[in-house]
Amino acid sequence: MRVALVTGGSRGIGRAISEHLAGAGHRVAVNYVRAKDEADAVVAGIGAAGGEAIAVAADVGTEAGATELFAAVEERLGPVEILVNNAGIVRDNLLLRMSPEEWDEVLAVNLRSVFLCTKAALRPMVRARWGRIISITSVSGISGNAGQANYAAAKAGIIGFTKSISKEVGSRGITVNAVAPGFIETDMTARIDESMREAVFGQTAVGRFGTVDEISAAVGYLASEQAGYVTGQVLVVDGGLAI
Ligand code: NDP
Repeated sequence: MRVALVTGGSRGIGRAISEHLAGAGHRVAVNYVRAKDEADAVVAGIGAAGGEAIAVAADVGTEAGATELFAAVEERLGPVEILVNNAGIVRDNLLLRMSPEEWDEVLAVNLRSVFLCTKAALRPMVRARWGRIISITSVSGISGNAGQANYAAAKAGIIGFTKSISKEVGSRGITVNAVAPGFIETDMTARIDESMREAVFGQTAVGRFGTVDEISAAVGYLASEQAGYVTGQVLVVDGGLAI
């Protein structure tokens, strides 16, 4: 079984991915930045279910945070073999009102982190001639979304990054893919009001928000041995929102 690292694994989609990978027998590092109690609860839940996990605090948008994270995981579990770049934030605003800080913060946590963590993970993966890198992008990065220029730019950046790195490392047994969720029930979408929800349901072929388990199952497939011939792809899991 493999060593997996899930950035932002303490809540929402990252939590479900951590639990799914642990359920598949992998040893999981659950990264978080602030929510220590939530991260500890994820680790305890995985342990109670017979799995193995650790929690590691680090801000993956900074070079120091990413470096410390990989050093801690390598020391406690070994080199990362499955990397899930999941950490993300929103700071929504119309462009004319968007501050440079809102732009920089979203780009750092959603895109710079993917560069930093993927780079840190690659060297041992190349040496081992096996690796899985899966980044969580968004339908916003494919279709765009008013009020989310910063977030959509970061998520579109993940797609270009994923396709490029898949070409750099494909011959080394490393696959690089992205999963693009539509609207999923988590803390991130909890503030969406009823009228907006109804509008989203109307635009979504299956007529509802998705669940975190529907995203973690897609990630689980891309992380599996059987997915070795799938690379450079964006798997859209959005109930038909983007079609
Ligand atoms: P949540 O807000 O529920 O959870 C975000 C997670 O990211 C938390 O674990 C949080 O840690 C972590 N995090 C935030 N900033 C950092 C940081 N600087 N360093 C490390 N970890 C950090 O988000 P979701 O589960 O909804 O989203 C997960 C991913 O899926 C994101 O990339 C998001 O953009 C993407 N996505 C979500 C959609 C949705 O509808 N929910 C739709 C499309 C994409 P802590 O708990 O410590 O704060």
